[in-house]
Amino acid sequence: MNNKCENNLINPNWAQHGYIQVYTGNGKGKTTASLGLAMRALGRCWKVLIVMFTKGGNDYGELNSFMNLSPTIKDNLKIVQAGLDRVIYKENQNALDEKAIKEGWELAKKAIQNDEYQLIILDEANIAIDLGILDVDEVVDVLKNKPEEMEIVLTGRNAHEKVIEVAHLVSKIEPIKHYWDTGIVARKGIEY
Ligand code: ATP
Ligand code: MG
Repeated sequence: MNNKCENNLINPNWAQHGYIQVYTGNGKGKTTASLGLAMRALGRCWKVLIVMFTKGGNDYGELNSFMNLSPTIKDNLKIVQAGLDRVIYKENQNALDEKAIKEGWELAKKAIQNDEYQLIILDEANIAIDLGILDVDEVVDVLKNKPEEMEIVLTGRNAHEKVIEVAHLVSKIEPIKHYWDTGIVARKGIEY
């Protein structure tokens, strides 16, 4: 395969980059939108960090794909799982969920402040805020002070109004129909 990553590191429109994007709403496509962006950016040799808040374990199709990228592209990607291997919601969250999510945030915060990546995806960060585990004012403060060129993406339902306010792009994905409502549960290869 051609390695297109060698000579095009400088984006001609670089000055136009560096926005905060939010993918929220109850429809399907928030995490996959962010993963699509990661693939696009990696193909331009950007350094990309993906923090998967609330998601542990290795049963994710996207992890399998990312692990099998070409060595050059893989070198530019870091994936951090900041959660346990289970679905959490307000009623079942415990200290271990909290610890994993907070550690993920500390890593993300340092990466933002130290300008270590060109694209940072904070998958399900909105959920971590909504659960009360991440402090929205701290997150917003870090976002406000991000390096100019850095693009940051936050996904997850129930985006906080303060996050929406600081963002430059907010897409709310609404379910007109979702097979979930007919009893179809998460499917391997489609939902994870
Ligand atoms: P994708 O990862 O496919 O882009 P998403 O990030 O938009 O989806 P999330 O809101 O993160 O979706 O939901 C993750 C999973 O939660 C879904 O794949 C689905 O299996 C499950 N889920 C739980 N409750 C619902 C619901 N009411 N409607 C739809 N999905 C739900
Ligand atoms: Mg998601």
